[in-house]
Amino acid sequence: MAHERSRFGFRPNTVQDVWHLPENTKIGKFATGAMCSSDESRFKLSTCDRVWRCRGERSAACNILQHDRFGSGSVTNLWTKVQRGKAKRGKAQRGKAQRGKAQRGKAQRGKAQRGKAQRGKAQRGKAKRGKAQRGKAQRGKAQRGKAQRGKAQRGKAQRGKAQRGKAQRGKAQRDLFIERFCMTGGSSPIGYLKAWQTNLYLSADAEKVREALSEGIAAATMFMSNKLTEVSQTQLRVAFDGDAVLFSDESERIFKAQGLDGFFQHERDNEDVLLDRGPLKDFLASLGKLQKKFYAKGHRLDCPIRTYLVTARSAASSGIRALKTLRAWGLETDEALFLAGAPKGPMLEKIRPHIYFDDQMFHVEGAAEMGTVAAHVPYGIAQKHPHKKSLNTGK
Ligand SMILES: [Mg+2]
Repeated sequence: MAHERSRFGFRPNTVQDVWHLPENTKIGKFATGAMCSSDESRFKLSTCDRVWRCRGERSAACNILQHDRFGSGSVTNLWTKVQRGKAKRGKAQRGKAQRGKAQRGKAQRGKAQRGKAQRGKAQRGKAKRGKAQRGKAQRGKAQRGKAQRGKAQRGKAQRGKAQRGKAQRGKAQRDLFIERFCMTGGSSPIGYLKAWQTNLYLSADAEKVREALSEGIAAATMFMSNKLTEVSQTQLRVAFDGDAVLFSDESERIFKAQGLDGFFQHERDNEDVLLDRGPLKDFLASLGKLQKKFYAKGHRLDCPIRTYLVTARSAASSGIRALKTLRAWGLETDEALFLAGAPKGPMLEKIRPHIYFDDQMFHVEGAAEMGTVAAHVPYGIAQKHPHKKSLNTGK
């Protein structure tokens, strides 16, 4: 007890004085108690009042002296206990620091993870939006393309249907019997005309008409007239010009080159020479074959087909040569009108043909003005010199 009392008497001053601890430094009961209960120190401080050494190092030998048993307070345990107390606080602080660090780390990792997650989410959202937008744009493009193709196909189908319907309505309205029917999808049908043994090709497309003429097919370009003359419903009337239509353009060339006097002289000199065939000669021959079938049945006067020659030639040698040529071919027209240069329009108005063929646009236009459906045959020298009229030449 005496030793313990001496320990208690020594303790307060020793702790504060030896370690110079702040006054408010707390020293727990355990540390104090342990210090008080310890009695196992083997050394004491004798040369200095403080010892510095690192953890794990032994104290220097000069600072270790054999203690005096119960002579003075032991420092070892005090030091140890303080270290333990500090260690506890350090551990606690380290634990707190570690927990704080861990928490901060966790918070930072959480924040980082949240940021990463948010960035990932934002990027995924952006990528999804971009993908969705691209998909939408592609679908829109595909749908527009599909719609356009569908529209084009529907338009093509509708046009085809409309054309077929128009052709069928035309057939029904005119009570025509059409055996051969061809839809070429916009390409030229001229290549098929000979295979079909076509007698006459009519079109509003002058280029196709020229192509047909070059193939040896009777062809003409159609023009619509603002004034239409009433025509017969029981008889087909077809009127032809002579030169460059039923005949070649031989005499027309003489006229263009040598004038009216040269033309007359040429016709007198060649009165018995047959004219060459013109582009519509075979069509007249085809009509003649049909007529002969009606003639054979006794319908000569009331034949449903009637043909006309309407020419600017005169009844003199030029007209005689044209008639001789027709007879030589075995052809004839029901009527031959030699106008000697007079306008053809008024005569055609009286004839009221369903169609009139001429190689010169001047006559075509004149006939159309009088209400006749006129067709232009783009053949011969007149196509190269369209402005030099032969109407008033007396040819
Ligand atoms: Mg002519």
